Amino acid sequence: MRLKDKVVLITGAGSGIGKSTALLFAKEGAKVVVNDLSEAHGKETVEEIQEQGGEAVFLQADVTIASDVKEMVQRALERYKKIDVLFNNAGISGVGALHETSEELWDRVVDVNLKGVFLPSKYVLPHMIERQEGCIINMSSCVAELGLMKRAVYSATKGAVLSLTKAMQVDYAPYNIRVNALLPGTILTPFVENYLRNAYEDYDEALETIKKRQLSGKLGTPADVAQAALFLASDESKFMMGSPLYIDGGATFGKMA
Ligand code: NAP
Repeated sequence: MRLKDKVVLITGAGSGIGKSTALLFAKEGAKVVVNDLSEAHGKETVEEIQEQGGEAVFLQADVTIASDVKEMVQRALERYKKIDVLFNNAGISGVGALHETSEELWDRVVDVNLKGVFLPSKYVLPHMIERQEGCIINMSSCVAELGLMKRAVYSATKGAVLSLTKAMQVDYAPYNIRVNALLPGTILTPFVENYLRNAYEDYDEALETIKKRQLSGKLGTPADVAQAALFLASDESKFMMGSPLYIDGGATFGKMA
């Protein structure tokens, strides 16, 4: 029970990495506030947590809308009285080289991936500052560190999330609040499945191609990232501050040829 009695708010927890993390955190004793845009997906996560004997509530909010996020944080605090861990996980893909990226796609990806870290943090931090305690995990990506084809706006947002993580850590260290970032490589989730279907003609061929980016020769699983998030959320990582944590099968620092 590495998170016994901790209250955790996870954005985008209706699918993929967020869902897997919500299930794992609940098994480890956390009370989980499950946020998602989709009510059906968010409620499914809560039901699965309850089926395994855990405690969770679904709070619908669009992380790009300040009034939604403010209300979500207020309701979480009313229910559980505290928030120990905020996992800013919600994110969307954006495929294209810069000149191929529409202004609309640019704005939406920046909004979800960057404002979606800003707003939940903005409304949770006053509470953490008051308690002089807290842990924030921001979802970046290994594309923050390496150039990847046709990922202009997506890479820009994930690089910004990594920089923001470091800036936040400096500002909130005096309040005993840790802020770290996760940098996954390619993890097989609905997000990547959609990307492969939209960006390539042949799904299976695309899957084989992207597996080769990893030294492991395999893609990661949501559970791989959830385990890393658990480490960052628990006191075991208490000396980690403002740090990137890579879960990428060697994609960032290794090269096969
Ligand atoms: P996913 O399966 O698509 O899950 C993302 C979740 O975020 C979805 O449930 C989605 O809800 C939710 N969401 C999207 N926009 C939202 C908004 N405005 N407000 C609230 N929730 C919103 O994706 P994933 O692969 O687990 O990705 C999770 C995070 O990891 C993202 O930040 C992604 O960039 C990052 N990441 C993923 C990979 C990878 O390879 N999978 C690698 C590095 C980083 P709806 O389904 O209702 O839209």
